[in-house]
Amino acid sequence: AAKAAGKRQWRRFQPQQRVRMVERHDLRARLDRAIARQEFDLRYQPVVDMETGDVIGFEALARWPHRGQDAVPPGRFIPLAEETGHISSLGGWVLRHATADIARLQRRTRRAVPPYVSVNVSARQWRDAGFLDEVCAAVDAAALAPGTLQLELTESVLIRRTDRIDALLRALKDRGVRIAVDDFGTGYSSLRYLGDFPVDVLKIDKAFIDGIPHAPRQVALVEGIVHLADALGLQVIAEGIEEQAQRELLSSVGCRYGQGFLFARPMTVEQSEAVLRTGGGPG
Ligand code: C2E
Ligand code: MG
Ligand code: MG
Ligand code: MG
Repeated sequence: AAKAAGKRQWRRFQPQQRVRMVERHDLRARLDRAIARQEFDLRYQPVVDMETGDVIGFEALARWPHRGQDAVPPGRFIPLAEETGHISSLGGWVLRHATADIARLQRRTRRAVPPYVSVNVSARQWRDAGFLDEVCAAVDAAALAPGTLQLELTESVLIRRTDRIDALLRALKDRGVRIAVDDFGTGYSSLRYLGDFPVDVLKIDKAFIDGIPHAPRQVALVEGIVHLADALGLQVIAEGIEEQAQRELLSSVGCRYGQGFLFARPMTVEQSEAVLRTGGGPG
């Protein structure tokens, strides 16, 4: 009887699973096409100095525009592009466009301290043999102000360390590229890489920020991360700040930089320029 029931259930699930597989296959095909045709957009989310209110830089975030359909969020299409291996091609496009956009923004706004651009780089790209050349070519082609490119990596890249990645990070740092650990604290539970690798920035994941200021253990964790970063001489950026109370708590524990809907949502490069001209602080 149990077997029969199991069989019935399996029969009932099968069509749904088929639909999901077909949908996935379809999405993959559309994504492959979009990557080949470079049909993407970038949005920029301001990173704010919470002490002064200045915008110090922007994180570039990829968008896949869809006519007449719901947009597929990057949380869905980035992992898919990683699976198919096309992330390197998409990532190259992001790098070239983000550096060109911010270089133009820097020239048009002429601030004393030019804003930086922070670009997300997938684990796969860090393993690409041509990655260093690709970064250097993008920076040169855009004529980006020195020291204003930041690359974001996730903890998995630093945990599975190889001599190649070590050398790559050092070469990038020698060229003035800053390295940020994205989604800090959510990956592997090893901190050893912080002692070994010359990273510059820790971005505290939104998951930690969500719990403050009300959950004491989350507050303690955030405070601990800020102190750890201070001791190592790293900059800390809190991600996903949505409420004033979170901002206040972060400031009170010494976290100076933040990103989140409280300050600004990801926006076009034109809107970013307007922000720098009006609300972006002095300079
Ligand atoms: P991430 O790098 O951690 O980027 C931060 C994400 O949090 C962005 O989502 C941003 O829109 C969102 N966010 C920022 N502030 C808030 C807030 O206050 N509340 C909430 N609820 N969300 C906030 P987005 O743009 O959907 O990107 C999701 C993820 O996709 C990124 O997480 C990143 O891992 C990946 N991604 C996006 N663009 C690229 C890209 O060009 N290359 C690669 N490799 N990954 C990318
Ligand atoms: Mg990021
Ligand atoms: Mg993040
Ligand atoms: Mg994230």
